[in-house]
Amino acid sequence: MPVNIYHWRENSIVHILENRQYTGGTVNGKSTTVSYKVHKKIEKSQEDYQVIPNTQEAIISENTWLRVQELRKNKRRNTATGRRSLFSGLVYCADCGSKLHFCASKSLKKNQEFWRCSSYKDGRGTCTIHFIRDVVLEAIVKEAISELADFVRCYNSAFLYLISEKKGAESVNREKSLRAKTESAKQRISDLDKLFSRIYEDNILGKLSDERYSRMANEYEAEQKRLISEVEENEKTLI
Ligand SMILES: [Zn+2]
Repeated sequence: MPVNIYHWRENSIVHILENRQYTGGTVNGKSTTVSYKVHKKIEKSQEDYQVIPNTQEAIISENTWLRVQELRKNKRRNTATGRRSLFSGLVYCADCGSKLHFCASKSLKKNQEFWRCSSYKDGRGTCTIHFIRDVVLEAIVKEAISELADFVRCYNSAFLYLISEKKGAESVNREKSLRAKTESAKQRISDLDKLFSRIYEDNILGKLSDERYSRMANEYEAEQKRLISEVEENEKTLI
């Protein structure tokens, strides 16, 4: 069977996989403009998107979508032999932080397949080789998992305590970022007031047509309304 009988383009598939709306929500606020006079579009970062859940029927579950994003972050390269390691896309250099590349070739037996730092570049790069065989890595990971399992079996309550500590630290970080987001939303609310009076003045002075004024005023008002309810929601969570 031909590989791509429906002629799907790679970009179209990426777009489908990354589209959060298939989880049944609506995503707003992906971009903004410099000002009402300068229409240059500025893409916002994904953390600043406004996601409204359950606005339409979901095609895939939220958890499946999140898992897809996680897998796409750790893309796995195919080796020339088509062989892959269990750890493909998940191993990083401890010295320089680059990915380690999995090396498998026809001349290498399974137990000779190895990893090396992607910044090594056969000695011409910025890092040393950091050579480790795949079977050795597998043995190290197996040992670490069995040690952890032993620890959980023997010190169950201590393990639960450590996990709750970790979760506590995560929730402190979440709170911190929510606080920062709320502050910047408040700032934007007050900026919108100023922008509003500016377009009002421009309209009175004849610099801005009525039609344009009313479109922009509606946009500012809608954004401000959305931000006010976002701030209210966040403040309820933060109390
Ligand atoms: Zn390195």
